[in-house]
Amino acid sequence: MGKIVYYLSPSSFCFGVKRSIDQLNEIVASHPNEKIFCIHALVHNPKVTKQFEEIWISFAEDMNKVKDHDAIIIFSAHGTNRKIIEEAKWKYKAVYNLECPFVTKIYTEVDNFLQKWISKFLYIGKEHHQEGKNVIEYIRYTWGEVFVCEAQDQLQNIPYAHDEKFAVLSQTTLNFTYVENIINDIVQQFPHAQLPLLSDVCKATYERQTVVVENLDKFETFIVIGGKESNNTKELYRIGTENNKKSFYGESLDDILNYSEEVLFAHDTVAITWGASTPIEDIKAVFEYYKNHGYEAKILEL
Ligand code: SF4
Repeated sequence: MGKIVYYLSPSSFCFGVKRSIDQLNEIVASHPNEKIFCIHALVHNPKVTKQFEEIWISFAEDMNKVKDHDAIIIFSAHGTNRKIIEEAKWKYKAVYNLECPFVTKIYTEVDNFLQKWISKFLYIGKEHHQEGKNVIEYIRYTWGEVFVCEAQDQLQNIPYAHDEKFAVLSQTTLNFTYVENIINDIVQQFPHAQLPLLSDVCKATYERQTVVVENLDKFETFIVIGGKESNNTKELYRIGTENNKKSFYGESLDDILNYSEEVLFAHDTVAITWGASTPIEDIKAVFEYYKNHGYEAKILEL
């Protein structure tokens, strides 16, 4: 068998990222010459952020830093605490919430549980990631109680009683299997824990992880391309390292070229995958790089 580079499909922008980018482009077109501020990066890819900066969109982490009340405020794909969105509607000329519908699902779940008088939550996710941070803030804003669990060994610290009712939610971009395992543990310990009807891990994350996991036996080197802040990209990389693949993570080909050819070409089978907010040109560049070094291209898909 010769040298093979596998292109793992699906790739490039997921549904939610593409939708947010398309919507922001439409807003720019419909508000010529107006000041537009996006609160946080629209999606976690620096190239996408730079492309929007080039068409005069400004980015701010804190909405209150935007002093111009004639500005148009955009909320990112990661979702935003509803209190902040309501405040923005009072303060600014126009407000657009471009969050992914899979994230909206989680806010809807919070509201539905609250309507059923369930105000205690267990959130499986990362407290400092934009999506998790905002969901947690929203629960607290509604006077709910939330215990955040980032790892299975934290389950022993759950502050709720064995027979108490609390709702379980998770971040959309975590490792699907990892979330399933945590939920199974919770259900065994807490028979009254309330689960969403469908997993909160989104379809795009699930599919990208599954195509890697199902093909682990086909490759030795694993390359992941995506933004350093992108959680779904980090989770893909983690699958590689946990399965003892020689794994590399970069935002583009330039980052990958920081490694020596000796390590990049150490194996005859290479698989390349990408986060859900990675532009297609960054994907093609890495793939072409391997093809130009004698690797035969093959596609692996679900
Ligand atoms: S990764 Fe999932 S949750 Fe995030 S934008 Fe894409 S579809 Fe939505």
